[in-house]
Amino acid sequence: MSNLQTLNPQEVSAKDYVQGVYETVVKRNPHESEFHQAVKEILESLVPVIAKHPKYMENGILERMVEPERMITFRVPWVDDQGIVNVNRGFRVQFNSAIGPFKGGLRFHPSVNASIIKFLGFEQTFKNSLTGQPIGGGKGGSDFDPKGKSEGEVMRFTQSFMTELSKYIGPDTDVPAGDIGVGAREIGYMFGQYKRIRGGNEAGVLTGKGLLYGGSLARTEATGYGAVYFVNEMLKSKGLSFDGSTVVVSGSGNVSIYAIQKAVQLGAKVVACSDSNGYVYDKDGINLETVRRLKEVERKRISEYVNEHPDAVYFEGCQNIWTIPCDIALPCATQNEIDETSAKRLVANGVLAIGEGANMPSTLEAIDVFLQADVLFGPAKAANAGGVAVSALEMAQNSMRYSWAFHEVDDKLHEIMKNIYRNSVNAAEEYGHPGNLVVGANIAGFLKVADTMLAHGII
Ligand code: GLU
Repeated sequence: MSNLQTLNPQEVSAKDYVQGVYETVVKRNPHESEFHQAVKEILESLVPVIAKHPKYMENGILERMVEPERMITFRVPWVDDQGIVNVNRGFRVQFNSAIGPFKGGLRFHPSVNASIIKFLGFEQTFKNSLTGQPIGGGKGGSDFDPKGKSEGEVMRFTQSFMTELSKYIGPDTDVPAGDIGVGAREIGYMFGQYKRIRGGNEAGVLTGKGLLYGGSLARTEATGYGAVYFVNEMLKSKGLSFDGSTVVVSGSGNVSIYAIQKAVQLGAKVVACSDSNGYVYDKDGINLETVRRLKEVERKRISEYVNEHPDAVYFEGCQNIWTIPCDIALPCATQNEIDETSAKRLVANGVLAIGEGANMPSTLEAIDVFLQADVLFGPAKAANAGGVAVSALEMAQNSMRYSWAFHEVDDKLHEIMKNIYRNSVNAAEEYGHPGNLVVGANIAGFLKVADTMLAHGII
């Protein structure tokens, strides 16, 4: 992003400072490659800010930001349907509470470890700041694999997880929500268990709740809709739109489903989606109702799609989804799903815009390919902030003991996404990287947290 030769003298020392902080992170958190990657991306963007404002260096802001306020690891024992005792590992990272209670999802996936949770919690701090709402950054989860588990097993595991987590969370301290593998069902079981342990009815302790007990309308749709609203702003800046475009969306979970729905509403044709086993290509446009039923109701694999749509084709493995020619790519599956090779292929096929619906779906090398090719690139912490933004609106409604209509929440979401876009564009321009929304989003997210930390003193 920044090249040493083009830097002024202040930027050279800022670069040294940033490099030193990064090296400490690598040394102090060995083998945590995803965490290193997330830190590197942010720190490199901040060089011009540190150069312009030495106060951040003088007050050790970066050193403090890369160290979580608290990291909790715990045992999650549960008994499966065969009567066998299983033990999973639970995590909650409370990364930064400068601007509000820790806020961020819980991920249940076998790949979950300290590195994944820390990268997500670190990113969340900047993302939440960008929403303009008073929420700090946190994240959690477990290496539990919900795939193939019975209802009873999911419930017992989730209750055991919450039994421990309940000691550390609360509506004004730390407010978890969903992420990969944690949806309305799991949030329901967790809320029930929290209520049972703590008594009372603290609706604001979790977000993404069911509508019957304090959930917000439009929370389910928010991440996918928000990503499309964000990409729409990028497209508009170049006189382009979703109308008539061909779109590839990876994933088939909550983010993907509502990204597909909104893109189609805006006139796009979405020709592919995927799950962790493979992807489907439907040249006539993916039938969203089939995907929703298969994934949300029947909890089946996406490969089943072709049984109902014989013109569609299923491919085993996910990487080649990015070889399908498209105008707009929305990676909504998981981290590092677009590497340098996939990015080059997308560019060679003429992609105009990328909107990251998942967290950190592009590798650092892939991002460089997109930026060098002048592809419109909406980084995750800006483009997928709609989910957590509506979570904060859910917290606001819980505090008021009131709920807004769908269109009221959706309008607020739309406004928030436009603001994130504008603030990212402006920050990129002010700090000498016009058009680079990676740098812009990182700087805009950083400033609010950093200035609050300065105001609070060395804590
Ligand atoms: N897991 C989502 C994210 O990555 C949502 C978090 C929330 O709503 O707290 O932002």
